[in-house]
Amino acid sequence: MPTVLITGANRGIGLEFARQYAADGWKVIATARDPGKAGELKAVPGVQVEALEVTDDASVAALAAKLKGVKIDVLLNNAGISGPRGFAIGEWDFKAWEEVMVVNSIAPLRVAQAFLPHVEASDRKIMAFISSRMGSITLNGGGSAFYRSSKTALNMAVSCLALELKDRGVTCAVFHPGWVKTDMGGAGADITTGESVTGLRKVIGGLDIGKTGKFFNYDGAEFPW
Ligand code: NDP
Repeated sequence: MPTVLITGANRGIGLEFARQYAADGWKVIATARDPGKAGELKAVPGVQVEALEVTDDASVAALAAKLKGVKIDVLLNNAGISGPRGFAIGEWDFKAWEEVMVVNSIAPLRVAQAFLPHVEASDRKIMAFISSRMGSITLNGGGSAFYRSSKTALNMAVSCLALELKDRGVTCAVFHPGWVKTDMGGAGADITTGESVTGLRKVIGGLDIGKTGKFFNYDGAEFPW
């Protein structure tokens, strides 16, 4: 049975990934910053819950060491923050901007580096990164510069990673999950976590090395960078 490791799995899209993969018979390693507060996740049958703070080198290294020898078919970098919105030039809070970049742009690559041996040893060798259409420069509608730029940086970093890992057979792709009803997306969003994750799992399931370095919508359509 294939194995998936999910970051930020205690709520929102990450929790739904854990539920769906577990229901499908996958071995699910679901991570949360504070497993003590991850009651809903722990209630999902068959899921292995582990602590992971994606911005912390020691936390990431400790889990990678604990899971040494475990093959991870799909590494799902899902954890993210929206950060403060609505700032215009003249009001920018650079400390807040830095935090968004650290969590959304840099941390997923830290996780990718630490778990590369686990992914490389697996059958499927997939690294999936949950980005956002807000990271697309082509589709930019303005506003939310902190969040948008953090996802654009993630997209470029994954594009570089995909090129670097192609010859090693590791497929890397970024995804827009849709506008999803979660704490981040809000109650007025377009789709449920169930709809988003059903679509994303289908697209992730259809990935192969020929699709590495691409940006996909949750329905499988390719997104412009
Ligand atoms: P939520 O706010 O519901 O959940 C975010 C998850 O990320 C939580 O589990 C949170 O943990 C975790 N997380 C945040 N920071 C860290 C950290 N430093 N270390 C470990 N875990 C962390 O968001 P969504 O489920 O909506 O979003 C999931 C992903 O989808 C994000 O990358 C987001 O940018 C992206 N996305 C979402 C959209 C939407 O409409 N919802 C649209 C486009 C993209 P904790 O509970 O501890 O805070």
